[in-house]
Amino acid sequence: MKRLLPALLVCLFFVQAQAQLTPFEKSSDKNYTATYAEIVSYYENLAKQYNQVKLINYGTTDVGKPLTLVVLSRNRVFDPALVKKQDKRVLLINNGIHPGEPEGIDASMMLVRDLLKKNKLPKDVVICLIEVYNIDGCLNRGVSRINQNGPRAYGFRGNYRNLDLNRDFIKADSRNARAFEKILNTWQPEVFLDNHTSDGADYQYVMTLIETQKDKQNPILAGYTSKTLSPELYTRMAASGYEMTPYVEERKATPDSGIVSFLETPRFATGYTAQHNIISYITETHMLKPFDKRVYATYDFMAHLIDICERDHTLIGELKHKADEQVKNQTSFALNWDVDWEHYDTLVFKGYAAGHKTSEVSGLPRLYYNETKPYTKTIKYFDNYKVTTSVDKPVAYVIPQAWEKVIDLFKLNNIVMHRLAHDTTLDLQMYYIGDYKTPQRPYEGHYLHSDVKLSPMQMKVKFYQGDYVVYTNQAVNRYIVETLEPQGVDSFFAWNFFDSVLGQKEGYSDYVFEDVAANLLKKDTSLRKKLDDEKAKNPQLANSARAQLNFVYRNSPYFEKTYLRYPVGRLLTDPKLDLQ
Ligand SMILES: [Zn+2]
Repeated sequence: MKRLLPALLVCLFFVQAQAQLTPFEKSSDKNYTATYAEIVSYYENLAKQYNQVKLINYGTTDVGKPLTLVVLSRNRVFDPALVKKQDKRVLLINNGIHPGEPEGIDASMMLVRDLLKKNKLPKDVVICLIEVYNIDGCLNRGVSRINQNGPRAYGFRGNYRNLDLNRDFIKADSRNARAFEKILNTWQPEVFLDNHTSDGADYQYVMTLIETQKDKQNPILAGYTSKTLSPELYTRMAASGYEMTPYVEERKATPDSGIVSFLETPRFATGYTAQHNIISYITETHMLKPFDKRVYATYDFMAHLIDICERDHTLIGELKHKADEQVKNQTSFALNWDVDWEHYDTLVFKGYAAGHKTSEVSGLPRLYYNETKPYTKTIKYFDNYKVTTSVDKPVAYVIPQAWEKVIDLFKLNNIVMHRLAHDTTLDLQMYYIGDYKTPQRPYEGHYLHSDVKLSPMQMKVKFYQGDYVVYTNQAVNRYIVETLEPQGVDSFFAWNFFDSVLGQKEGYSDYVFEDVAANLLKKDTSLRKKLDDEKAKNPQLANSARAQLNFVYRNSPYFEKTYLRYPVGRLLTDPKLDLQ
């Protein structure tokens, strides 16, 4: 027995060590990503073993499973309010939004274990990590990414509603998105990371990086990320053996023509987090590199990010505070951006020579990259964006309570809202929707509007008791303005939240209205003049009886004022309101 005991202990230790290996590590060829069941049980085992980790479920996902957040806290504080009180930073890491791009899932499992096992959790940074965000897609395992070099099987991009969750952060159609927003607004991280795999051109790098587009990012945060954090991540990753380049979005067919910095508008995870003044990154490992290298690169990136956040925790906290204060007082807000093709930078790029040969499929020329011909050359980097649309914020927005989804999302995003104490007629600015473009076919379950033209009009509008007043003096002003202004690229209007105002409710029968209109024109000389002036300018109108009748109708008291009127009002002054 005495002899057996040490052997038994060694054996037990071995079993435990084995149990701590991730499914990826256990696989002989390292070409395997954990299944949903394996992910869940792996973290449950860690949580049983270590008290510096806690698993917290937030809401549910479209497939009915809860969204689980892994919280790592060195001093075992798992209350977000207390974490803030203790002046700790929060780093939020998202994995598996596209489950076919699973490096973050496997790398996070290894990293969490290593941090716990080696007692290496940072002192001043609480790490919050989503095990797998698109659980629905993760369960739908297969080989749907034809171009990707492993793993052997993986989840599907669409969730249970076939949504791409990385386009869902403003419209929040999925329960996954609403659970994510709950996590984000509960923990209020200062830094966010979203792990992905890229497709597109072939080149030498295992990993590419997207950071919040600098011209879209809060300038206070952009100063730190562009001068300190990002350069240091590039340097450290190169020292780890995973030299990175900015995400490769080719200007034309291949990177030789230059690459364009990616604009993550608010529908994307990091576009949404940027609206909350959170420093944000997306890792994009390259699809053709072996899976194990992609996993290890993701592991290293996260380790470096944690390390720098720990070192700079005081500074990052100060910058977040300053950015929040600046946004509270900011008056003008950008709503859309476009690449500045004239002002570009350059970067040294390690690519593969591209060429054309005859396709065995079509007999026509096809593109290929020759991995035996690596090159290093300087290419153009179009990383400057200019604002194409902007708006001055009002003092407050007034939102009728009828628009429940807007109200629910605002509540979820911790936006301070007041309610009118009684029915109130307000003199405020309303927008009439002049024109807009809508595609023929749906995109992510919506007919996304763009190129919205507006006619602002100062007018008196009656609002009802309980309608919402949202002052624009908040740290989340960007979320408020960019979602409520119809011209915002990812505004609620763009995503069809307000489409019912685009339909006319009443009309007339020509033969009846003819007599009414004739009387109107007799009584109202200014309307007569308005019609005559318009006819003089517009021959089409002059030649159409129907168009003239419609002109009189639209300018008559019978015409509905709510048609094409965007229902959210803009208070340009600050009247004393009776609020609940
Ligand atoms: Zn992706």
